[in-house]
Amino acid sequence: MLFTTAIAGSLPKPAWLAETQKLWPQWKAQGKELEQAKADATLLWIKAQEDAGLDVIGDGEQARQHFVHGFVEHAEGIDFENKVKMGIRNNRYDAMVPQVVAPLKLKGRVHAFEAQLARAHTKKLLKFTLPGPMTIVDTVADRFYGDKVKMAMAFAELLNQEALALQADGVDIIQFDEPAFNVYVAEAADWGVKALERAAQGLTCKTAVHICYGYGIEANVKWKETLGEEWRQYEQVFPALANSRIDQVSLECFHSHVPPELMALLKGKEVMVGVIDVASDAIETPEQVADTIGTALQYVPKDKLIACTNCGLAPMSREVAMAKLDALAKGAALARQRYGA
Ligand SMILES: [Zn+2]
Repeated sequence: MLFTTAIAGSLPKPAWLAETQKLWPQWKAQGKELEQAKADATLLWIKAQEDAGLDVIGDGEQARQHFVHGFVEHAEGIDFENKVKMGIRNNRYDAMVPQVVAPLKLKGRVHAFEAQLARAHTKKLLKFTLPGPMTIVDTVADRFYGDKVKMAMAFAELLNQEALALQADGVDIIQFDEPAFNVYVAEAADWGVKALERAAQGLTCKTAVHICYGYGIEANVKWKETLGEEWRQYEQVFPALANSRIDQVSLECFHSHVPPELMALLKGKEVMVGVIDVASDAIETPEQVADTIGTALQYVPKDKLIACTNCGLAPMSREVAMAKLDALAKGAALARQRYGA
């Protein structure tokens, strides 16, 4: 089928699970009760995605507090007790980040619980997201390695260990989230893609990378205003990705200032085109979604185009997120009618 549909990754957490509309929300329960609440929220979103008619299903990242720290928490060698304030994404915003203080090692499985739960409850393609090495390095403070690339490669090894285990759990697509690629564009092309390939080493399932301009939060909206008329960040990293072993690339399109012709740089790759804006509560019409797909089709072959959201929907309201899932599916269906022949 043409124009299959998927979300970038995260979905809002229900109010009984965690604080709503926050990027680093506090959990509402503890211990066994929290585990149950995470499981319930995961099942709820699997059902919602299936009801909307999406083709690729995710866990909505309901079991992790934040897309980077949810992974990092499971590594040894990191001091989570003494977080420090650090400017992240080239000082776009300050975050309280943990410190790497010793050699990195995984304590055990990271996402077995929610991946296995999701696998048991959907027969559709299952996508699972992990943070990319470069983005992790940009979200922790280094007090041990003294070298960014060395630390990224150490994280890439850990990610690889978990990714191989997720594949064994039955995950069909493993996606690495690399918003940092749009911030440190030269470094992304230089070593970011290599670190990504290290994280994906040995995987036989599909692999993907998501590169965006961030969640629809105020700091990101302000940053985007400084980027000018044309956002050409992708131009530097797409050729390196086209030459990599990564199968799919997720990018922002609708309401962004990304020149659509940059998609042509991803020759040979499946392209997850962002047709849903995550920085606005306005619900896209099926016509708008189909129009965006039509624009992308000038640069992406029909059989390589996947309709996706620009980024995660985590900080939005549940109601808006539900409506956007629906718009995504309806818009892709309309595009199939328009461009399918
Ligand atoms: Zn994103």
